[in-house]
Amino acid sequence: MKTKCPYCNYIADQHETLDNLNPNAIPKEGEISFCIKCGGVSQFFKDELIKIDIESLDEEIKIQIKEIEMAWVKTRNLTKFRDMKESRNKVMENDN
Ligand SMILES: [Zn+2]
Repeated sequence: MKTKCPYCNYIADQHETLDNLNPNAIPKEGEISFCIKCGGVSQFFKDELIKIDIESLDEEIKIQIKEIEMAWVKTRNLTKFRDMKESRNKVMENDN
């Protein structure tokens, strides 16, 4: 099932949920979604993702979102660092 992020229009075709690490999980009505591309938090509503105000959510869910956000930022920075190193290595190879 494909969903589109309402913030960055990223099309996701795989979904994982916190309690079920199945990449083919199908989002259910009312579930919260975290965009892997832009970090936007949205809610699944009538077969599509809509923007939501995080402040309107339960404290428990807000804490979970913060944890996902932190993991996402770390992963993203690692990927960026690896890409930087790879492109620097390529430049050095070309200089030789
Ligand atoms: Zn997004």
